[in-house]
Amino acid sequence: MTDKPILPPSSLRLTIDRGALAANWRALDTLSGAAKAGAAVKADCYGLGVDACVPVLRDAGCETFFVAHWSEVATVAAHVPPNQVSVLHGVLSGAECDYARATGAVPVINSLDQAERWTASGGGRCHLMVDTGISRLGIAVGEAGDPRIAALDIDILMSHLACADEDSPMNARQLAALRGVAGAITHRRLSLANSAGIGLGSGYALDLTRPGLALYGGVPRAELVSAIRPVAQVQAAILQTRMLSAGDSVGYNAAFTAPAAMAVGTVSLGYADGFLRSRGPGNALHYEGRRLPILGKVSMDMVVVDLTAAPELSAGDWLDVPWNITDAAQQNSLSPYEMLTVIGRRLRAI
Ligand SMILES: *Cc1c(COP(=O)(O)O)cnc(C)c1O
Repeated sequence: MTDKPILPPSSLRLTIDRGALAANWRALDTLSGAAKAGAAVKADCYGLGVDACVPVLRDAGCETFFVAHWSEVATVAAHVPPNQVSVLHGVLSGAECDYARATGAVPVINSLDQAERWTASGGGRCHLMVDTGISRLGIAVGEAGDPRIAALDIDILMSHLACADEDSPMNARQLAALRGVAGAITHRRLSLANSAGIGLGSGYALDLTRPGLALYGGVPRAELVSAIRPVAQVQAAILQTRMLSAGDSVGYNAAFTAPAAMAVGTVSLGYADGFLRSRGPGNALHYEGRRLPILGKVSMDMVVVDLTAAPELSAGDWLDVPWNITDAAQQNSLSPYEMLTVIGRRLRAI
């Protein structure tokens, strides 16, 4: 009989500040006024991990969770009642209706076809998305009176803002359009605001808000700056150090050549972990606040850093990887949403 091998600690770690995540949800719930905040937990909680984040959101008081795909239901429903899980892509087939019924998760109906399919499969509680200007998913405002909509048992009637992170006249237009259609469709709750929408003010909160990004530390509007705390911290260990001589090159395509002798370290972090190639030269990792510039190209599982500022470091020492989704995102021309959702699976320890 052999014991199950014990997995040694990883050379990469993503630390989730659970207190900050809970505080962010509570702050967004408070900013939502009389409305209740839900949570967008799609894409594995924006890359931070459902198993780490959903229990925290649940314990903070969240009761409505949004994913995009049916494949995302089971991991979320492992932590919360399935009827609190809503699937934004809706029901594209009879098989998806069957899966909804079997799991108890709730579809967001997006079209007259989806409405008909859901009713034909037995109907029951659902949500309804109305397109008020983003032109992605949802029935058109003009379809509100269709008998296929009247046949639905709608809990949340919702729409999605296109420009909530800007002071655009489109925001008020979308709010008015949703309010207009709400009189024509029987529903229990009304919902419009994502994270940025909460920053637009209590007029947008309606009955339920749907923050995602801000829960995880993103700040899409200045009104949210003081309310939101960073949640994710990434660290990677040095795997090996070496001394380069003048003329030695580093990494694929020999993109960096040492101008003089220098100490370098190879770090356990690469683009497979979401540290994309766009974060190569010009960027740095940090050790106790000291800047360790990245040399050459980012590889799949490794980067090489200049250890001139911290020559005492050796294999096993941990470096801080900047994952500041408000600043670094700008520097690297990645949106904060992208910076989070590309976080690789190897970083999800729990
Ligand atoms: C992703 C999503 C949200 C959350 O948006 P954030 O900008 O991350 O707050 C809310 N509603 C819908 C329909 C979404 O797809």
